[in-house]
Amino acid sequence: MWSQFKPIVTGDDYVESLRGRNLTVYLFGEQIKEPVDHPMIWPSINALKATYDLATDEPELASATSHLNGEKVNRFLHIPHSAQDLVMKNRMQRKLGQITGTCFQRCAGLDSISVMHSITYDIDQAHGTEYHPRFIRFLERLQKHNQIIAAGMTDPKGDRSKAPHEQADQDLFMRITDRNENGVFVSGAKAHMTGGLNSHWMMVLPTMRLSEHDKDFAIIGVVPLQAEGLTYIYGRQSCDTRAMEAGDVDKGNAQYAGQEVLAVFDNVFIPWEHIFMDGEYEFAAPMVERFTSYHRASYVCKTGLGDVMVGAAATIAEYNGLEKVSHIRDKLVEMTHLNETIYSSSIASAHESKPLPSGAWINDSMLANVCKHNVTRFPYEISRLAQDLAGGLMVTLPSQQDFESEETGALLDKYFKGREDIPTADRVKILRLIENMTLGRNAVGYLTESMHGAGSPQAQRIQILRGMNVDQKKWHAKKLAGIQQVD
Ligand code: SF4
Ligand code: FE
Repeated sequence: MWSQFKPIVTGDDYVESLRGRNLTVYLFGEQIKEPVDHPMIWPSINALKATYDLATDEPELASATSHLNGEKVNRFLHIPHSAQDLVMKNRMQRKLGQITGTCFQRCAGLDSISVMHSITYDIDQAHGTEYHPRFIRFLERLQKHNQIIAAGMTDPKGDRSKAPHEQADQDLFMRITDRNENGVFVSGAKAHMTGGLNSHWMMVLPTMRLSEHDKDFAIIGVVPLQAEGLTYIYGRQSCDTRAMEAGDVDKGNAQYAGQEVLAVFDNVFIPWEHIFMDGEYEFAAPMVERFTSYHRASYVCKTGLGDVMVGAAATIAEYNGLEKVSHIRDKLVEMTHLNETIYSSSIASAHESKPLPSGAWINDSMLANVCKHNVTRFPYEISRLAQDLAGGLMVTLPSQQDFESEETGALLDKYFKGREDIPTADRVKILRLIENMTLGRNAVGYLTESMHGAGSPQAQRIQILRGMNVDQKKWHAKKLAGIQQVD
């Protein structure tokens, strides 16, 4: 399997590595021959390419020393072995958010290998299995080839009131359908697969707590994207077809976009060497909980996008000649305050991280959940303020073609001018960027993904409720109030 992969060094190597894989991909009801060349798909590949380019341009930030062999590896393939590793991960994510202005699709994969390090270790301790050394062998190869792994976590789930084994259609949660001496076969689907087409491997993991009756659903393994039996159906994004129009201006951010796909598994084979859980259902709940501790802190990525939003709002204010007006400055302060509040909870969860028995370090769960919960709200308010500063023009602007037309170009240039020394075209471009991030294609990444990615708001509230230790807080209050306490 591995011999067919050439190790990736540069971002260009990465793009080349995606070609010719003959994946079964559908978009607009048709099968796509080569996703890499599709104008709607390419910007999402470019966002992942940035994760390779950053490792070359700023190795201290985006690469790390592998704990396996001391080699330099991309930070997205590095298992955190200290609080500083998690701090650096967060800083890298903010930076990539600034560079791309969108979801760069690589964090769930990193968080899945991070959680596998400790969960395989714990299963082996409990059951005498050999998942951990098996996982380490896979990780070594993944690091050596510098490939991307995506996390397939979200099952379609069907009737939410029913457990996996109770569903009328058993394929609504990924399950083992058959097995032989070499491995197992799985069927089902993984939804909202971030970067699902742009990766080399996909790790499938249970999406929630499982019981003894759900043993056949307790499967964790990795498959190459081109595995037989896999079909991908591309998810739409608001205004995505602008990517297929001529000209870059109306796209707002022509270079970068996110990607989500539905990945359907029809009896896909997973060999033993790529299986890291097979029936140990009682480890599904701790696995999900640890994954969320990592992944909810990963949503620090949105502070990088927030930086872009603050910058765009400040720029349009300047182009309108309003940058010194006090309420405008105050709105920029408010946006920054919200953005840095997200950052503080994430970076604190990294600083407060702790080691697990396997040696991997994990973010503080409470602070990671607070980070993600902030992310479900603050980008909406930041976007509202950016739209406030942008003005209505953002949604009534004519097209790039009209700005370039002989008949209308001069008129639009004249009437859409702001400050005299600023070209009208620049004013239009910054408005299109705000449109892109608050209403258009990258609003998927900045807003809706902020709401629902890594668990919808209620999922964080449940974790906050579990960890908030009200009894201890009551004890402190009663003590100060002079109320006699039993202990
Ligand atoms: Fe990474 Fe953020 Fe995209 Fe999730 S939403 S993959 S954390 S960039
Ligand atoms: Fe996500």
